[in-house]
Amino acid sequence: MPKKILIINTGGTLSSVKSSKGLVPGMRSDDMLEELRMVSRNLELETEDFCSLDSANIGPKDWSGLAEMIARKSYDYQGIVVIHGTDTMAYTSSMLAFMLQNIAIPVVITGSQLSIANPVADALENCRCGIHMAASGYPGVFVAFNRKVILGCRASKVRTMSFDAFESINYPYVGEISSLGLRVYERNLIAKKGIFRPQTAYSDKVALLKLYPGINPDILDMFYEKGYKGIFIEGFGLGGMPFINNDFIGRVGEMVEKGMLVLVGSQCRYEGCNLMVYETGRLAIEKGVIQAYDMTAEAAITKLMWVLGQTDDIREMKEYFSVNIAGEVNIG
Ligand code: ASP
Repeated sequence: MPKKILIINTGGTLSSVKSSKGLVPGMRSDDMLEELRMVSRNLELETEDFCSLDSANIGPKDWSGLAEMIARKSYDYQGIVVIHGTDTMAYTSSMLAFMLQNIAIPVVITGSQLSIANPVADALENCRCGIHMAASGYPGVFVAFNRKVILGCRASKVRTMSFDAFESINYPYVGEISSLGLRVYERNLIAKKGIFRPQTAYSDKVALLKLYPGINPDILDMFYEKGYKGIFIEGFGLGGMPFINNDFIGRVGEMVEKGMLVLVGSQCRYEGCNLMVYETGRLAIEKGVIQAYDMTAEAAITKLMWVLGQTDDIREMKEYFSVNIAGEVNIG
């Protein structure tokens, strides 16, 4: 019996067509089926359309709906491929990794830098990788791009035009296609920790703030006054924040006292933060901030949304950040 793989289309460049307003997602999944069959060989493909959007227009409500659709369908297919725009793909893959933790089948998100209608596109190569990873039997949420398979919550778009647009950040690749075929590195997969139960609640009362020299701490009050409950701050280097001349850390402490969850990471993409090294980090720890360690910005902000959707209890929120849920973080 051939394995059954479901392709869910959400739009993006892969499905795009030219319009008077520029490139817009236009093809439905059925329009792409013939081409997709060329790279899937003896697998049985079925398709669904979730939406047809440039991924700049995709947000938390879509993630929740998409996760629910995937959860429902996961009992009828051996694997699912999600076609998605590349611009926010890493946010979607990170959030799906949290919402769909412990899913029993592979869920693989892919897209491309050129439309599938373009004969020199990377679209079919990426779909080939996505479809065969979806048929691999290894459960989890992944991104497939440029012949590499990345853990969903470790992916990041690092290039705007090249075909190698995605990297696995602070974590090894989980698979790749080479002359040896598709190889999956089992040691890098995340073991199932319990039964599958989709957890699709989230909070959008969270913000991401990149520090810059001279940043005015009043910006923190603005978030607080607007009802924000959590903030992810990208600090300098190992995660440092100012406290001399500009007492940003002092105001962060006030936010923590008022009940805001303050997560601090690094604006450097690689190697993560460590707030224990410098005074500019330790003081923040003393004020009660939480470290993001080596999480990507995409994983950190989506984990914050997801955690705040699970509980209102600040102690429980901190507990979630002290554990590695889907492979997103290496703590300490
Ligand atoms: N703007 C497109 C999107 O994210 C880019 C792409 O798919 O590569 O939907």
